Amino acid sequence: MPHELKILFTTSEIHPLVKTGGLADVAQGLSQALHELGVDVRLCLPAYRAVLEQLAAPHQLAQFHIAGCRFPVRLLLSRLPATDVPLYLVDIPQYYDRVGGPYGTAEGLDWPDNPQRFAAFSRVCADLALGRLDPHWQPDLVHANDWQTALVPALLSLEMRRPASVFTIHNLAYQGRFPADVFRRLALPESLWGPDGLEFYGDLVFIKGGLLFADWLTTVSPTYAQEIQTPPFGYGLDPILRWRKERLVGILNGVDYHQWDPRRDPFIPAHYDPDHLGGKARDKAALRAHFGILGDPDAPLAAFIGRLVDQKGADLILDALPHLLTRDLRLVILGSGDADLEMRVRRTADAHPGQVAAHLGYNEALAHLIEAGADLFLMPSRFEPCGLNQIYSLRYGTVPVVHRTGGLADSVVDASPENLAQGTATGFQFAPATADALAGAVHRALHLYADRPRWEALMRRGMAQDFSWQRAAGHYLALYRRALGG
Ligand code: ADP
Repeated sequence: MPHELKILFTTSEIHPLVKTGGLADVAQGLSQALHELGVDVRLCLPAYRAVLEQLAAPHQLAQFHIAGCRFPVRLLLSRLPATDVPLYLVDIPQYYDRVGGPYGTAEGLDWPDNPQRFAAFSRVCADLALGRLDPHWQPDLVHANDWQTALVPALLSLEMRRPASVFTIHNLAYQGRFPADVFRRLALPESLWGPDGLEFYGDLVFIKGGLLFADWLTTVSPTYAQEIQTPPFGYGLDPILRWRKERLVGILNGVDYHQWDPRRDPFIPAHYDPDHLGGKARDKAALRAHFGILGDPDAPLAAFIGRLVDQKGADLILDALPHLLTRDLRLVILGSGDADLEMRVRRTADAHPGQVAAHLGYNEALAHLIEAGADLFLMPSRFEPCGLNQIYSLRYGTVPVVHRTGGLADSVVDASPENLAQGTATGFQFAPATADALAGAVHRALHLYADRPRWEALMRRGMAQDFSWQRAAGHYLALYRRALGG
């Protein structure tokens, strides 16, 4: 009987139960793919109110107290909906039974007790990993994610006999930084304080627990793994990442092609595939009608979807617009975020009726219609750990134009003359992250767009790319085996 690898995946969000970003998609996609590969993978998540409301009566495994937390704790066991993946829930109602998001209020203010909430969660994860809470199960390896569970590898490092640990950085911009006195209130072992521990220039920085103490580090693309070792991307943590570079690997995220595939997408009016592109023209007509785009139906249509924040670089598109609109281009924008940027987008659309249109807000169905109906997808992120939309765009034959950074650099092959000649190109890259460089790449794209057979060849090549979770899970599995000395 072969030994079945046992993995505990600790996370503060999981799609479809609770999601604010890419971590939720990784938790779902990776755990399902590992499960299909025969791994005994189990998830552990805080029992937020919104999560308990979606699960049928989870089974109680244990009730106990932990250091640094005056409230009783319950460990529950359920399953990720529509899967066979076991899901542990850490239930501390005083911490997680709230109206609002996982990290803050509906208005976007962080919960003031976030350090207590995630230190307690991490402690329970560590105890579960050490076999102290579920008498029937102990993992060989714990996979922790982002600052919310970064204390898990730190706590495990203090144990003589412990499972191996992997820590994944989904976005180094979020570090879990708090004033030093919070450290004492969490009753963490004194040995974890100091510059070689969780202290960072006098503050408590949770993510250091993962960066310093995990056996292996990963991040969500090979290029981002390199970038975070440099000052512009490292937020002062780059020296640690350089020091640990032998144990740092980049694994590009997968995407869920069950949800994102123009062959069967329920949100789009016409389906298509590389051999039957006709449906895409009908989707483009529907998208134009939705946004009130006017003029030549064959005019190139570019799109942006994403959070309207500095990271995503939508301002570069607005800056480049005077150079772009001279070329018959149309543009649609879907996003929400910073009030100033939202206002700029709104004003720009108002100034160019029939040519530029925007929907400010979050709209999943519209995101699918845009992916299907647009010709070009603009992703000028200043930094991008992995990015999903450029990968969806490839599958939808919506040629991505991306800043050469992070996962964008790793998933899109530039249509340089050599790559076009070799038949490897799938989109357009530019650098640096400026409006001029973006405009230059869009002009290159429009030049090729005018040559329909070559453009369709580019679309087809993008559509044939495979960024499935099965592929990514294979890389994680290889890393887990390595971490276990296999
Ligand atoms: P990040 O996690 O940094 O926001 P990603 O590209 O990794 O960026 O993932 C963003 C996801 O959120 C994509 O699936 C994208 O389609 C979706 N998304 C972002 N903004 C919106 C919006 N306004 N409406 C619909 N979907 C959106």
